[in-house]
Amino acid sequence: NSKTQEETDMHVAIDGPSGAGKSTVARRLARELGCVYMDTGAMYRAVGLLAHRLGVDDRDDEALSRMLDAGVEIRAALAPEGQRTLLNGEDVEDQIRTQEIGMAASNVAACPSVRRALVAMQRQAAQGCDVVMDGRDIGTNVLPRAEHKFFLTASPRVRAQRRCDELRARGQAAEFDQILREVQERDEQDMNRKESPLVRAADAVEVRTDDLGIDEVVQVLLALMGRA
Ligand code: C5P
Repeated sequence: NSKTQEETDMHVAIDGPSGAGKSTVARRLARELGCVYMDTGAMYRAVGLLAHRLGVDDRDDEALSRMLDAGVEIRAALAPEGQRTLLNGEDVEDQIRTQEIGMAASNVAACPSVRRALVAMQRQAAQGCDVVMDGRDIGTNVLPRAEHKFFLTASPRVRAQRRCDELRARGQAAEFDQILREVQERDEQDMNRKESPLVRAADAVEVRTDDLGIDEVVQVLLALMGRA
């Protein structure tokens, strides 16, 4: 068998802007396929939260690099109600899901030292296991040889509405116009940064999710993978 380990693992890359439905779809797809699900956005959010707590400027690459060098452990723990993100052993799942920390995540994600550290963790986690990973640069950078690559999109209004629903379901206040502005601001920043900008990999299949429910998107992806 001349195949390398990387070629025998099943790696599914799901990228796209916020609110396209990536994380819900990726989690469901992983369950259907019997793979591990990895939410890379949660890792950038955890770094954003830590910077916020320590008063570190979330756009200062050198300061963030020192913060990471001091030792930061990010893990995901399985819980009955879903996956929980652990930052140095502390459950920060609820704290990272605010709009404010979403923006902090987008800021730290533009810094080369943060990307280097997190991408290394992500590649290592994917080694030797079947994984569905979602993010912004999975198909282009983290797992460029992934067997299946998808790029999920939807119009800004649909994505903002989904964000509103998600925040309200978590008991947070959400005002549509403000969320729409924030969604557009974050996309703009993610698409125009120098380091691994949000862009569809040349070999990724784009799926527009405006008029599709979660089940339908999962079915479309399974069909495209030849698993329906
Ligand atoms: O997907 P989520 O909204 O949780 O991601 C938060 C932020 O983390 C994004 O706006 C993006 O800037 C950054 N991110 C990234 N690369 C990834 C995942 C997330 O730059 N693979």
